Amino acid sequence: MTTLNIGNAEKNIAVIGAGIIGINCALELQSLGFQVTLIDKLGIGEGCSKANAGHFATEQVFPLAEPNLLWQFPKLLLDPLGPVSLSASYLPKALPWFGQFIWNMLASKRSKNSAAIKTLNKNAISYYQPLLKEAKAEALLTLKGSLLVFEKSSDKTIKRYFEQYKNAGISVLLLDRQQTLLLEPNLSKNIQASLYFTEVGHSADPSAICTQLAKLAFSKGCEYKQAEVLNISHNRSGVNLTTKEETLIFDQVVIASGAWSKALLKPLGYTLPIEAERGYSLDLPPSKNKDKLSRPVASAERKFIMTPMAHGLRLAGTVEYAGLKQQANMKRADMLFKNAQQVLTILPELNAQTAKEGQKWMGHRPSLPDSLPVIGQAPKHSNIFLALGHQHLGLTQGAITGKLIGQLITKQPTDIDVTPFCLSRFN
Ligand SMILES: Cc1cc2nc3c(=O)[nH]c(=O)nc-3n(C[C@H](O)[C@H](O)[C@H](O)COP(=O)(O)OP(=O)(O)OC[C@H]3O[C@@H](n4cnc5c(N)ncnc54)[C@H](O)[C@@H]3O)c2cc1C
Repeated sequence: MTTLNIGNAEKNIAVIGAGIIGINCALELQSLGFQVTLIDKLGIGEGCSKANAGHFATEQVFPLAEPNLLWQFPKLLLDPLGPVSLSASYLPKALPWFGQFIWNMLASKRSKNSAAIKTLNKNAISYYQPLLKEAKAEALLTLKGSLLVFEKSSDKTIKRYFEQYKNAGISVLLLDRQQTLLLEPNLSKNIQASLYFTEVGHSADPSAICTQLAKLAFSKGCEYKQAEVLNISHNRSGVNLTTKEETLIFDQVVIASGAWSKALLKPLGYTLPIEAERGYSLDLPPSKNKDKLSRPVASAERKFIMTPMAHGLRLAGTVEYAGLKQQANMKRADMLFKNAQQVLTILPELNAQTAKEGQKWMGHRPSLPDSLPVIGQAPKHSNIFLALGHQHLGLTQGAITGKLIGQLITKQPTDIDVTPFCLSRFN
């Protein structure tokens, strides 16, 4: 329950970035009584939060930097349409990030980072429920779990995955082919087994979560400004935000500008090793087959996910390191269709032409090399707060991030320990 503090109304706070993270921060701060202005250069939820897989992936508690990747990297990187790809021209720029990523493969770092992710994910869905209820948008969250399916992996490998999740405290069941097909009859017979994550959720319209929560914030008095913040400076009278047209002054600022955050932090004297892990999605029109999928289904070997959406089926995934400026390579979105044809029986009725006409999208996941976001006060600036770098889990961790930012700004005890998320780990 949010407590309204009338004293807060005297304070103007700007939130830079109207993605799922910034929207949650703006909503929480406005509910706490602050006068909030949400600022975005593109529009509400028009960055990475627009067409993601809609998976409240609370089971994903393992950092992305896993040692096995080291051996797979050369093969993965040589295939421009593989699940992970690195643009050759971007390689020199990405090298320092990869250096830190490899450093985070150390067992001691992985276990510390995993423990921190777990604290964020543990109750992540329950932080959304009251917000969606207040926004009269509860239908945007479905709790039917999710599946991770295996086609070719050995029994030993599947068992190892299962034990790993179980030992991490995740609610998971190991299903054989028959049990998997009972849950999702439209999956192909190629599927050998699956892991069923029973406490996971999904949204049939993640973009609507952004717009509905933003609408709720606006109904409480939050303002919206479409502008690009070019520079942030700090002086005694507050924090100045420079846009092309004007300079805006606020008492406090929250930077929630996702993959674009490095440029805003540099002039303030901070290093932020953030990379855009570009991911793709392809929306297929509704299938004639009424009974499509009931929950998100991810493929362990093909590294992509299929989520039933309000408008049809969304295929999503892949990682491409190519920075913020390079054009999207929509062949990567087409590739998702080829993968889905192998794991779904309903797809043959959609021919390649239909898939070509499907809605394709690329988003920049804001990723730090340790797979942890930055949530906290800027170490050298008492009026600047950071909520960024949520990599593959921004939708999942949005509501808890908003809550934590509210607690930090009002100097209340935080629901979880935020020390692991402090920017000082890179500075
Ligand atoms: C294919 C794909 C599938 C995914 N699936 C899932 C999933 O199933 N579950 C999950 O939890 N996560 C998923 N994610 C990750 C999730 O989408 C991101 O973590 C999340 O969207 C990040 O939110 P954000 O608010 O930090 O960034 P964004 O949504 O990118 O928002 C940042 C905003 O800041 C604005 N901005 C930047 N710089 C400035 C500036 N200088 N001035 C003004 N505005 C600025 C941008 O315009 C943008 O709107 C997926 C991502 C991809 C790409």
